[in-house]
Amino acid sequence: MRRPWRLDLRMARYLLAQKAKRRTHFPFVTMLEPLEACNLRCAGCGRVREYAAVMDRRLAGDACLEAVHASGAPIVSISGGEPLLHAEIAAIARAIIEERRFVYLCTNGLLLGETLDRFRPSPYLSFVVHLDGTEAVHDRVTARPGTYRTAIAGIRQAIARGFRVSTNTTLFRGSDVEDLHRLFSTLTAFGVEGLMVSPGYAYRDATDQGFFLDRQESIEVFRRVLDPAKGYRFYNNPLYLDFLRGERDVDCAAWTTVTYTVLGWRKPCYVLADEHVEDVQELLNPALWAAYGPGRDRRCANCMMHSSFEGASILEAFSRPRDLLTVAREERRG
Ligand code: SF4
Repeated sequence: MRRPWRLDLRMARYLLAQKAKRRTHFPFVTMLEPLEACNLRCAGCGRVREYAAVMDRRLAGDACLEAVHASGAPIVSISGGEPLLHAEIAAIARAIIEERRFVYLCTNGLLLGETLDRFRPSPYLSFVVHLDGTEAVHDRVTARPGTYRTAIAGIRQAIARGFRVSTNTTLFRGSDVEDLHRLFSTLTAFGVEGLMVSPGYAYRDATDQGFFLDRQESIEVFRRVLDPAKGYRFYNNPLYLDFLRGERDVDCAAWTTVTYTVLGWRKPCYVLADEHVEDVQELLNPALWAAYGPGRDRRCANCMMHSSFEGASILEAFSRPRDLLTVAREERRG
């Protein structure tokens, strides 16, 4: 299955409309975290520790929709925590889809198979299952045996029932490139729509800080992982993949993904929360970004997160016709 053409069309129209309004800072993606509770405690995850005091909180459906409207982005990525633990998750996703926004429901896959009956296949809905390697590697990262097999079973059921499914893989220090290629081959054979990749971010609250790659290490690993000769269909846009391989530099554009949580909007970005605020416009204020990004805040030095640099590369493409052609060609290649 390939990515729906209407997503690319919608994004192109949205970006052109923002340009026509002369907006420089606007979101592409609303990252919606309707709960922070999770059924795993992965070593590289900051959320389950950062939000430990509010693990019992859930965003109601109305609050989720208000956040989606306040942001206005055409793509809504629902994450957490584990969103499939939220009792109203199917109704929340359905309400967003009814507005013809594209929902990416990010899950560790443990509950995917048993919750599929609550969803209906749609070009506007994709499950994104997080997998960090094949069985031994993934089960080690999630610190629980059996997580890989359960997630894979969920992926296969979802695809067999006509759902769009992508995967997301985080790279850490010690990620085994051959193992990742085996994982990508397996997932490709199952018919996933695309493979997303991103380096892990060294969350202050993550238990093992030695787990994370610095920027140069990330580039070296990604050069091997993203080997074009392998022919894998990566979901990230080709300019961001160039950035991960160290072949292109872009600045942080973290306002392209705004994150709403049980405590409000994370400010400044998906990975840093110096505070939580009520008004998303605070994140879209150009003055804020004079203080954040590589070279401006030491916590940004090694960050290569797709939530900010992928958006930055798309913005760059829209100001350079040759880059735009590259993106268009690669997106349709799949
Ligand atoms: S570079 Fe800094 S501000 Fe930008 S996304 Fe990364 S951590 Fe956030």
